[in-house]
Amino acid sequence: MKLTNTLGRRLVDFAPLEPGHVRLYTCGPTVYNVVHIGNLRTFVFEDVLRRRFRARGDRVTQVMNLTDVDDKTIRGAQEAGLSLGEFTAKYADAFFRDIGRLNVEPAEHYPKATDHVPEMIEVIRKLEGRGHTYGSEGSVYFRISTFPGYGKLSGIDLEKTRRGDRVADDEYEKEDVKDFALWKAAKPGEPSWPSPWGQGRPGWHIECSAMSMKYLGEHFDIHTGAVDNIFPHHENEIAQSEGATGHPFVEVWLHAEHLIVDGEKMSKSKGNFYTLDDVLERRDDPAAVRYLFLSVPYRKKLNFTWEALGAAAAAVARIRSAAVRIDELASAATPPRPGSFPSEERAALFRSEFASGMDDDLNTPEALAAVFNYLRQVNAAVDDGSLDSDGARVARGALADADRVLGVLPGAPEVLSSEIEEKIAARNAARQRRDFAGADRIRDELGARGIVLEDTPGGTRWKKASGV
Ligand SMILES: [Zn+2]
Repeated sequence: MKLTNTLGRRLVDFAPLEPGHVRLYTCGPTVYNVVHIGNLRTFVFEDVLRRRFRARGDRVTQVMNLTDVDDKTIRGAQEAGLSLGEFTAKYADAFFRDIGRLNVEPAEHYPKATDHVPEMIEVIRKLEGRGHTYGSEGSVYFRISTFPGYGKLSGIDLEKTRRGDRVADDEYEKEDVKDFALWKAAKPGEPSWPSPWGQGRPGWHIECSAMSMKYLGEHFDIHTGAVDNIFPHHENEIAQSEGATGHPFVEVWLHAEHLIVDGEKMSKSKGNFYTLDDVLERRDDPAAVRYLFLSVPYRKKLNFTWEALGAAAAAVARIRSAAVRIDELASAATPPRPGSFPSEERAALFRSEFASGMDDDLNTPEALAAVFNYLRQVNAAVDDGSLDSDGARVARGALADADRVLGVLPGAPEVLSSEIEEKIAARNAARQRRDFAGADRIRDELGARGIVLEDTPGGTRWKKASGV
C-alpha cells in the first residue's frame, strides 16, 4: 500500500513494523465545541484508512485522544460557568454522535488527556533527564535547540528562533518558532494537578506524545491529523517523543487537507461554517456527506457546496438501488436459465481495481470509479437477463466487500439488538424518573455506535444511523 509520508514528503510503500498489525494514532477533537465538517472530513479519512487495512487482513489498533484540558477547553468552561469535566463531556458526546452518524468505526482506544496526566509528567521527567527542558516560574519548556531534528516534519526555518524565546500558548503560527510549554504553572481559577514542578497542567502537545506511546509503544506505524496539525503540534510531538526515548517515534505521517465551502475558508463570520447538524438539517443523508468526503483524495482540498452534496446523494442512491436489484436477484430461488454474464471474472477485476485505487495513497475517487464501472456492467446484465442468481450472489459479495471500506450502504448494526434493547429500557427508566441527563447519555452512547433512537407513540424504536 502506497502512502504519502509528510515526513520527507514522499510516497512510501507501507508495511507495518509488526507484520499484520497496524498501529495508528489519530489526533482527536478538542472537546470545547461541536466539530465542523472540516474536522469530520479528517475523521472519515482516518476511518477509511483503518477500514482498508482491515479489509487487507491486518489487525488495527487505533488510538484517538480527546483533548479535554487545554487553553480552549478551560476558557470555554469558564465562560459557560461549568466545571471542566461537565463542559467537555457535553462536546465529547456530540463528537461521538457525529462520527456515529457518519458510520465511522470506533477506534480501539479513546483516551482522555485528564486521565493521563501522570503519563505526561513521566515523559516530561524523561525529557528533563536528557537535558531538553528548562523551567521558568513553575512552567517547564522544551528547548528546541537541544533537538537537532526539530523542523524535519514541517520544514520550518530554525534560523528564525532566538535563544530563550518561548511561547506559552498551545497554538501558534509557523513564523513563531519558539520553545514551547510542556507544563504550565497553575493560574488562579484553572484546573491543576500536582507535579514535581508544583501545581499546574500539561501543555497540549505533550498529551499526544504520552498517550500515543502508552497505547501503541514508543515506535509505531502511522500518525495522522489535519494539515494544520503539522506545525506546531506534530513537530512538537516528534521533538518530545524522540527527545524522551532517543529513537524514532512514527514511521509515516499522513495529513488530510482542508475542507473549504463554496471555494472559501470556513468561518463563522462569513456564515459558511457548518456542523454536521447544520448540513443534515438541509439534507438528511449522512451517507451522502460521507460519500462527498470520499469523492476527493484526502490530500486535496475539498470544496463543499450544496450542489456537490446533491451529486453525492445521487451517487449513493445509485449504489443503493443497484445493491437492492442485485440483492433481489441473489435471493431469488431458481434462475429461469443460467446467465452468461462472467460474474466471477468481472467481480475479480472489480476487486482488483478497487484495491489498486485504495492502495494508491488511498485514492478514494479512483476506487469509487471502479464501483460505478462495475455496477454499470452488473445493471446491464440484470436488464438483459444475463445475470442469474448465482452471479448476483457473487456481485453482492463483491459490493459488500467494497462497502466494508466505503461504509456508504446501510448494513446490519455491529451491536447486538438485545444489548440495544437493554439500553433503551434503561433510558426509558431514566426518563420516567426524570433523569434526562442520564437518558441523553444513553442516547448519545448509542449514537456513537451508529444507533439512532426514535421516540414514537408506540415506544422507542432504533435504527442504524446511516440506514435508508
Ligand atoms: Zn494530537
